[in-house]
Amino acid sequence: MENSLRIDYQCPQCGAPVVIEETDRLFTCGFCRVRIVFNPGEQFRYCLPVTGDTLADDVVYIPFWRFKGMYFNCVPFEVKGKIMDATFPSLDLDFMPPNLGYRTQTHALRMASSSLGRAFLAPHTRHEDVLAMVESRTHYVDVMNKESGSLFKAYVGEVTSLIYTPVYIRNRAIYDGIINRPLGRYSVERQPVFENAPGEPGWTFQFVPALCPGCGWDLEGERDSVVLTCRNCETAWRMADGAFSRVEYGVVEARTPGAYLLPFWVMRFSFEGVTLDTYADLVRLANLPRAVQKAWEVQALQFWTPAFRVAPSPYSRISRQFTMLQPDVVTSPSLPRGGVHPVTLGASDAARGVLVILGTMAVAKQRLLPRLADIRPKLEEARLTYLPFEVHGQELQHPGTDFTIPLNAFRGHPPALR
Ligand SMILES: [Zn+2]
Ligand SMILES: [Zn+2]
Repeated sequence: MENSLRIDYQCPQCGAPVVIEETDRLFTCGFCRVRIVFNPGEQFRYCLPVTGDTLADDVVYIPFWRFKGMYFNCVPFEVKGKIMDATFPSLDLDFMPPNLGYRTQTHALRMASSSLGRAFLAPHTRHEDVLAMVESRTHYVDVMNKESGSLFKAYVGEVTSLIYTPVYIRNRAIYDGIINRPLGRYSVERQPVFENAPGEPGWTFQFVPALCPGCGWDLEGERDSVVLTCRNCETAWRMADGAFSRVEYGVVEARTPGAYLLPFWVMRFSFEGVTLDTYADLVRLANLPRAVQKAWEVQALQFWTPAFRVAPSPYSRISRQFTMLQPDVVTSPSLPRGGVHPVTLGASDAARGVLVILGTMAVAKQRLLPRLADIRPKLEEARLTYLPFEVHGQELQHPGTDFTIPLNAFRGHPPALR
C-alpha cells in the first residue's frame, strides 16, 4: 500500500487554507496566484497537532522518520524490489510505539513550526543512517517472506522527512497528545527526556519565490518537480541545502511530432572494490553476451536511470535497458513546449540505485550479486537528459527500439499526454 501524506497548509501571502501533498515542492496559490518553492533546509518537518485542551506550551514533540521510496533486496540469486512506505522512531524511547501507524492518514499533518509548541526533540539518528534503519526494519519482513540470505540492499528514497507527534505529562504519566491516553509512567529515568527538551525548535520552515536565479523570469514545473526550468534563459534549477543550484541538462530532439519527453539522470561514478570505468569493463563484469569492441575500452561508462517515479520493477528494467544501450545522444539546451515529464526523482536519490542496476544487468548473477556489498560507488557527475518517446495507446515507445514503458508504471504523476 502506498500513501501520499497530506498536509494542511496556509498560503503565506493571502492566508488561504489549502491541502498539499508531501511530494509537493512548487506551490501555486489558487486564490492569490503567488508561486513559491519550498525551502525546507535539511528535510521537511511535519507535526501531528495535539488534540483536546492541552496547551501548546505543555507539549513535547517526539520525532519519527518518514520514508517512502523503492527498496531493493538482492537474494540468491535475483533482485527484488518493492515500495517502502513507513515511519520509524528517530529516538530510542521505550514508552513510544515502534511507528506512527495509521495516525498520519487519520489526522491532518501541519508544517512543524514554533506556533504549535516550543519543545521539539532533536532526532538522534541522522538522515545518512536511513539505510541502516530501513535494513534493520526490513530484516523481519524478509525473514517472514522467506527472503533471508540477503546479499545486498539498496533504498532509493523519494521522500525522507521528520514527523513529530505530541506527548505531555499529566498525573505522573506520559500522555499521547493525539488520543489523550497514557503511554507510560513518568518515571525518574524518563524525566531527563522532558527536562532536556529545548525551549525553541532552532529551525524554521522557509520558501522562496519561484523566480529564475539567473534572469528573474518565472520558473516552470509541476507541483512535485524537484527540478524547475526557465524558458527565458533555458536553465534548470533544483533546491539544495537552502538555495537554488544549477542543473546541467540536454534535450534529444524528437524526430516525430507529438513525442513525449522523459527525463533521465545520466550518471558517472568512480568505484572502489571493482574496475568499472568503461563500457568494456561493464560487459566483462556483468558477462553481457557481447564481444568487447576496441572502442569500448575507452568509452566512459554512464549509468542511465529514470529521473521520475515509477514502480520498482520498471525502474530497474528501464535503467538496465538504457545503461546496456549506452545511447550516444546529441542534445541541445532548448526546452520544447509541452509534452515534457517532470523530474520527480533527484540525482542523489537515483544514485543510490546504481549497484541494483548493476545486479539486474548481470548475466551470471551467482558471481556478481555476492560481490555487490563490497563495491563502493561515488557519484562523480549527473547530467539531466530528456529522451523523446512515442505514444502508442497505453505505452510509451523509445523510437528506433521496441522498448516500451506502460503508462501504468508511472507513480505519483501520470504522463500528461495530449
Ligand atoms: Zn494565496
Ligand atoms: Zn532564467
